[in-house]
Amino acid sequence: MDKTLASGARKCWFDSSRAHNNMINLEKLQKALSDQKPYRLKQAYKALFKDLISDWDEATVFPIELRERLNKECPLDIKTGEVLEDKDTIKAKIILNDNLAIETVLMANTRGRNTVCVSSQVGCPMGCLFCATGRMGFKRNLSFSEIINQIIFFARMGKDVDNIVFMGMGEPFLNYDEVIKAMRMINDKEGFNIGIRHISVSTIGIPEMIERFSRENMQVNLAISLHAPNDKLRTYLMPTNVGLEKLFESIDLYIQNTKRKVMFEYLLIDGVNDDKECAQELANLMKKPLYFLNLIEYNPTGTKFKPSSEKNKKIFKDVLIENKIQFTERYRFGQNIKAACGQLIVK
Ligand code: SF4
Repeated sequence: MDKTLASGARKCWFDSSRAHNNMINLEKLQKALSDQKPYRLKQAYKALFKDLISDWDEATVFPIELRERLNKECPLDIKTGEVLEDKDTIKAKIILNDNLAIETVLMANTRGRNTVCVSSQVGCPMGCLFCATGRMGFKRNLSFSEIINQIIFFARMGKDVDNIVFMGMGEPFLNYDEVIKAMRMINDKEGFNIGIRHISVSTIGIPEMIERFSRENMQVNLAISLHAPNDKLRTYLMPTNVGLEKLFESIDLYIQNTKRKVMFEYLLIDGVNDDKECAQELANLMKKPLYFLNLIEYNPTGTKFKPSSEKNKKIFKDVLIENKIQFTERYRFGQNIKAACGQLIVK
């Protein structure tokens, strides 16, 4: 990914003077409390993230005048569009203050954990061929506050959220500073207090950002959307591919700096990247310590691509097993409500 796009993306903020009050604005809250003693902000965070208040009148630790002022300057509504539920998955459209919208997803797994899959951008500039979000184009980055609102929304539904994945709409590392700020708030004892190892970020692979992330000293899990074992195929599927050599150099540096494992995500797409040769090339790439492979079933996104057949999947997995490559397979959730990987889109 070239830096021009990264910095260009950062410039796309909306004009807050023309904004509506569709969601909680944490930046405004910080500003509104800047003339108060520091403990007031802590009290406000407790009221928001733990007590899950939706009106400042419920924050009885605050004097009435302060509650009234906060209700005016920083209201606590979160405006949503369609909210769809399918067994273990809820997908919600959240309306931003400039009336753009994003989708966010909650998944409950069998171990009783609730994971929120947060979006980090409105749309995405990366244009991966298999992804519905990529077809939307790019509108702007989300602020850390807009990322946090997605979690507050599900917490207010009574969901015990204990896992966060940055795998919704957008490329998180193109919105690096706000994503890191959101991660710190999610992990903060004064924030959501979710364990840092229960936070994951998935990136298409922007080498300079992976290197920067390796110096953050954060034990957040890193996943790379690989999806192809050679540059020809990867550039076809993901036009912003920087080249596997450069990508893997940055990943190896990340492992060297952090001693943490890296998860490689590989969508199995019928007749595109699921033959024996691809499996062998992938196995050759994965033969390194701390590399872990996750095979993902492709979710139809209205493109020409289809999920791999059972026969192809078996052949593919047999090659990996012969090569002693350990892998996991991701369960397909939320497909009925188009909440699965790569299916998020707002019209
Ligand atoms: S797969 Fe990820 S990086 Fe690619 S277009 Fe979709 S959201 Fe963007």
